[in-house]
Amino acid sequence: MIVLMGLPGSGKGTQGKMLADELDMHLVSTGHLVRLYVTGERRQRMLAGELLDDQEMIDMLEKLLATIDDNKEIILDGFPRTVMQAEWLMEQVKKGRFQLSHVIHLKASEDVVRERLGLRGRLDDKQEVIEERFREYQRLTAPVVDWFKTHGAPLVEVDAERTTTEINDDLHRLLKI
Ligand code: AMP
Repeated sequence: MIVLMGLPGSGKGTQGKMLADELDMHLVSTGHLVRLYVTGERRQRMLAGELLDDQEMIDMLEKLLATIDDNKEIILDGFPRTVMQAEWLMEQVKKGRFQLSHVIHLKASEDVVRERLGLRGRLDDKQEVIEERFREYQRLTAPVVDWFKTHGAPLVEVDAERTTTEINDDLHRLLKI
């Protein structure tokens, strides 16, 4: 399993899709799952830029993982986003359910990704929602990077302020090792 982390707009979706196509891997995006399955009040919360409940996300992910029945590598985009989710993931790794080969932190500043998100045009890419998603990231997700560092996860940082191709080349180099 390869975990992609980073601010909204850091390129997790783009890079994840490229890698999955190029290396024949599964791409599991919890953002896609939320947009597919979640309606009502929880969808409104998502559209306001808030993270959804940890256990609900884990249940959604569990259901999806149960449908993957070959041994191909899985790229995880958008999970874990909280320390609780990271603890759950590492628990699964300890149980031998997955092998975690890389946690890739796509590192970019808020200024750089703000510009990218403005061009994307999703409903939760509106200026005020972007700011809320950044706040959620700093409050809940940034600590996950440090948590991984102190828990022996194979974390690498990649400069995600470069072009799509440059980042993609770097990821291929990384994954070959
Ligand atoms: P994304 O497409 O990854 O930016 O995710 C879109 C939205 O889905 C996020 O802003 C959250 O509201 C929700 N979401 C996706 N993944 C998670 C997660 N692992 N934990 C909590 N909420 C999530």
